[in-house]
Amino acid sequence: MPVQGGSGVAFSSILKVDCTKTSPKRVYRRRQPEKSVLYRALAQHFESFLLRYEQRFEKSFGYLRTIVRDTVYRFLDCGILESGFARARCKACGYEFVVGLSCKARCLCPSCHKKRELIWAHWAGEQLLEDVPHRQVVFSLPKRLKIFFRYDRKLLGELAGCAWRALRLYFQIYFDRDDIVAGAIGFIATAGEMLNFNPHIHVLITDGGFLKDGTFRHMLYWDTDKLEELFRAEVFRLLIEKELIGRDTVNNMLSWKHSGFSADASVRVETIADAVRLGRYMIRSPLVLERLKWDDERAQVTYQARPKRSKGPSGGIARWDVLEFIARVTDHIPETGQQLTRNWGYYANASRAKRRRESGLPNSSNDTQNDQREQDRSDGHRQRRLSWAKMIQKVYEIDPLLCPFCGGEVKILSFIIRHKTIKKILDAMDLPSQKPEPLAHSPPLFRDTTYVPL
Ligand SMILES: [Zn+2]
Ligand SMILES: [Zn+2]
Repeated sequence: MPVQGGSGVAFSSILKVDCTKTSPKRVYRRRQPEKSVLYRALAQHFESFLLRYEQRFEKSFGYLRTIVRDTVYRFLDCGILESGFARARCKACGYEFVVGLSCKARCLCPSCHKKRELIWAHWAGEQLLEDVPHRQVVFSLPKRLKIFFRYDRKLLGELAGCAWRALRLYFQIYFDRDDIVAGAIGFIATAGEMLNFNPHIHVLITDGGFLKDGTFRHMLYWDTDKLEELFRAEVFRLLIEKELIGRDTVNNMLSWKHSGFSADASVRVETIADAVRLGRYMIRSPLVLERLKWDDERAQVTYQARPKRSKGPSGGIARWDVLEFIARVTDHIPETGQQLTRNWGYYANASRAKRRRESGLPNSSNDTQNDQREQDRSDGHRQRRLSWAKMIQKVYEIDPLLCPFCGGEVKILSFIIRHKTIKKILDAMDLPSQKPEPLAHSPPLFRDTTYVPL
């Protein structure tokens, strides 16, 4: 019986095993990232984009960030066997197959972002969220102030801080006591519906607060005008402190009829499962592949708004040439190490650790904050590792740690990353080409450059 490769193709010349049980449904199928419009656009046009960036995009998108180039190159290797893979072997039947390596690029790679989303959802549902109603609160900014967050992405973390301080204060005013605390998770987002730059903060928050003894008090109504006012004051304070705006700007903006700030708290959910779904919506990738198409005739990328936003003359469809599409999609890549979610109040790591300690559950050996952080990090790491197989199963619809042939336990034998070895093995596997198909009719875009179509 021949051994099968990642794409289901025999590579009997490499290994011969005797396996009598076949179950075609469970055969590991390599996902084919190279087929997506996103991949094809980047594989074919990213170099042209780099060449044209300064002239065409720098004015509106700012300097090209180093992270953009690094992340795109990593993404172009994600799941592509020619860029390296792991060899896996079944301990029971000896079946061998290969698994492409992933790039873990946030907000660009749909597959890797999805894995993060699933891991978060699993962890939040099992360990973080309390069984109380939750609410989604969205904070957004006036156009005039968005630019500061484009040029200084670290400021986004501080914007999230503004949202939390406004909420904390709002709870204290509402309940008229300062010993009440909500559990909240903040999600930093930079993308608007059509991949425009729109920095905003989503918060998943308990619809009420916890007292010191653990009693939960429900919030009976939300005065979002008040909340918006508190958020606005925090943002002004931040930007003045950073010397990005002066008091004159603040006074001028305060005189506007519509402040341009907003706090929306209209979505409420009752169960943990619904709160997890809401969180997944907040953490999702800015780009939805299913809404992305290549229009052969017009040589344009089209992007469809979600159904409920599809009204209006364009029918909710945006059309971009491929370079503009690349500018938009790469604009939302976060900086290295930039934390996109934060846990606050009752859900903060320190607060959860304290409760664990008080309830006699095992905790760190020592009470110092550093040790606590270390513990939380390693807990998180272990959790991520434990749930990895479960999550990949959801993404790939198969558990890669189980043999796709007989269901036996699989061991990763080695990672093949040397070009020569990769080529040798892939040649022997006789896999079909993974070169992405070019996007039809796109070269005319580059008539004025020395661009040579691939
Ligand atoms: Zn990836
Ligand atoms: Zn097996």
